[in-house]
Amino acid sequence: MAILSGKSGSCWVAAAPATNYPPLEGSIHAEAIVVGAGIVGLTTALRLCEAGRSVIVIEGLRTGGQVTGRSTAKITTQHALIYHHLIDTFGRDLAQAYADANSAGAVQIREWVRNYGIPCDLEAKDAYTYTCDASRRAEIVAEAEAARQVGLNADSLERAPLPFETAAALRFSNQAQFNPAMYLVGLAQAVTARGG
Ligand SMILES: Cc1cc2nc3c(=O)[nH]c(=O)nc-3n(C[C@H](O)[C@H](O)[C@H](O)COP(=O)(O)OP(=O)(O)OC[C@H]3O[C@@H](n4cnc5c(N)ncnc54)[C@H](O)[C@@H]3O)c2cc1C
Repeated sequence: MAILSGKSGSCWVAAAPATNYPPLEGSIHAEAIVVGAGIVGLTTALRLCEAGRSVIVIEGLRTGGQVTGRSTAKITTQHALIYHHLIDTFGRDLAQAYADANSAGAVQIREWVRNYGIPCDLEAKDAYTYTCDASRRAEIVAEAEAARQVGLNADSLERAPLPFETAAALRFSNQAQFNPAMYLVGLAQAVTARGG
């Protein structure tokens, strides 16, 4: 039986190297100041650096140590049963825009991991949403159909590949997982290498 420490923490943050950037002193100038070295701030900063802008990133705590570094570490266009809901509620165009934005984000992460050689244990994986309730099978089938309508590689299965019984599963092929805290340390290094 595992004995847990009782302390909250993140295995991703624990495995990531600590960064040691200098404190902000005096006055400095840049075209853009990004507050927060999470995935949102560092993605913005690196995009700006790549576009030739001068950028300063200000982080109050530890790079990669907050929400991103404590997340579930999935890189996926699958978000429970969202596409059926989006098509039904807002129409096909908005659902398509949502799918495209999610796909572009996933592609961007893979490209940067490759181009900047970021060590973050990135692995391709299928993503699953499953139910143990047979009365919800139809929702899984409808979601797979909705996701395919916006061009995503989705299918519905009789059961998820889990060591217990499930009634149905939605599979999105070729998604990914990584260590998000290590990824952010790598993004920060890429920003620094480009003069940020
Ligand atoms: C439990 C959980 C699991 C999740 N799992 C996933 C998942 O598997 N896949 C997925 O895609 N998304 C997941 N998400 C969502 C995702 O983690 C967040 O949307 C994302 O990490 C938010 O990034 P961020 O850069 O805004 O936040 P953060 O990573 O928290 O970064 C914000 C940074 O700003 C700094 N900061 C804030 N204010 C200031 C200030 N005034 N001055 C200086 N610094 C400041 C903070 O210290 C912090 O480092 C999950 C969310 C949660 C809560």
